[in-house]
Amino acid sequence: MSTSKLNPHVALLPSAGMGHLTPFIRLITLLTSHNVKITVITPHPTVSISESESLSQLFSSFPQVTRKQLHLLPLPLDEPSSKSQDPFYNRFEVIRRSSHLLSPLLSSLSPPLSALVTDMSLASTVVPITDALQLPNYIFFTSSAKMLSLFLSFHTLDDPKAKDFVEISGFEPIPRSWIPPPLLEDTNNIMKTYFAECGKKMKESNGILVNTYESIEGESLKVLNEGIVFNHLPPVIAIGPLPPLKFERSQPLERSQPLAWLDDQPAESVLYVSFGSRTAISREQIKELGDGLVKSGKRFLWVVKDKKVDRDDEMELVDLIGQELMERMKGRGMVVKNWLNQEEVLRHPAVGWFLSHCGWNSVTEAIWHGVPLLLWPQHGDQKINADLMERIGVGMWVKSWGWGGNPMAVVNGDGIADTVREMTGNGFFRLRAAQVQDDARKAVGEGGNSKERLADLIDSWES
Ligand code: UDP
Repeated sequence: MSTSKLNPHVALLPSAGMGHLTPFIRLITLLTSHNVKITVITPHPTVSISESESLSQLFSSFPQVTRKQLHLLPLPLDEPSSKSQDPFYNRFEVIRRSSHLLSPLLSSLSPPLSALVTDMSLASTVVPITDALQLPNYIFFTSSAKMLSLFLSFHTLDDPKAKDFVEISGFEPIPRSWIPPPLLEDTNNIMKTYFAECGKKMKESNGILVNTYESIEGESLKVLNEGIVFNHLPPVIAIGPLPPLKFERSQPLERSQPLAWLDDQPAESVLYVSFGSRTAISREQIKELGDGLVKSGKRFLWVVKDKKVDRDDEMELVDLIGQELMERMKGRGMVVKNWLNQEEVLRHPAVGWFLSHCGWNSVTEAIWHGVPLLLWPQHGDQKINADLMERIGVGMWVKSWGWGGNPMAVVNGDGIADTVREMTGNGFFRLRAAQVQDDARKAVGEGGNSKERLADLIDSWES
């Protein structure tokens, strides 16, 4: 009798936003390289153009990956507690409310599935479906292990806003000011519901995959896996940092204007400035940031975002920045408003530093390329991410800047210029970034912890 194992068939269900989709795409391609048969279930339509373009690129580069669309129901989110200012959170809710459509889709796949990997924001509605189908379900948590501890604990905390620190067993207390502000509101909102319900239900999954690794979050992973936070937690499996992909890069002939500009700059001379895929900063803050970048005297490449969703972003760059600032930037700075492939920017030899909003993908991509960070968290998990980056010595965080987006606390240009000069003048960050980069690459290289955890997981799907 043959003892050879069959290749597993795994379905993956990402959620809304590039911050969730990008690590899913990296995981999908990694699994494909281990001969896992993959079906990707894509909620349709997407919120942003960048999501639909990334998906098209994935399916054209990996024709062996099957695509199934989950056609979302046209659900009006009428009740105040189920509607957010953030279209990406609203989409989480619509996908959650359309989840019952998954059951027939999952049962129809052939060969039968070995497992489903679901985005963290969908755990509460998807776990009951996979339970009913007796299908193993893994939740992909697209932030840090430290943030996972807050996610899992949120439903057990009584009134976090009433205390100066949030206490989670086994972890250092988290200052209240680092907690995502919607979680501290009195009234209910989508983020609170999603944290409470998904954080609770996730504990019934077969495993939680996290895009992190031992050498930066070993302690958090240990606490989670040794039953210190919760007695009955599924295994928390660190599989990161998921490496950026070659197919995310353009061909040399297609190099965009900003990349061509970088080609002409000296090595490690440029500060790259970006607030990720879905953070729009106020007009006033754009003006002060531009002023600060010019006054810093550094070369810079700045991606400006005026709207959360790229489809809504119609204003001309010059109208946004103003003619005067555009003139002052000439020579030293390159400013763009459209999507710029961050992977290509961070790996470019001219890029020396990264002023980042501290999205988990952005900070782990900076680590991957050994680029030190100026940390300016704007919302969500970003203060917790900034703290971690500061602790491991790869970035500088000016805590008095607070959350971005606070109209009462616009950071002025002179302060930004001083901070940019201080950060870029400190060689320690670059040395440390190189060491941390080395560890990150080892984690997913031959014999690395994350590589082995992923191989074990695939093995368990094969049996
Ligand atoms: N990104 C990019 N180009 C842009 C903006 C963002 O390539 O102009 C990518 C970035 O590399 C990262 C993802 O989009 O992989 C953003 O995720 P992150 O967690 O950093 O932040 P979010 O956008 O979710 O706030």
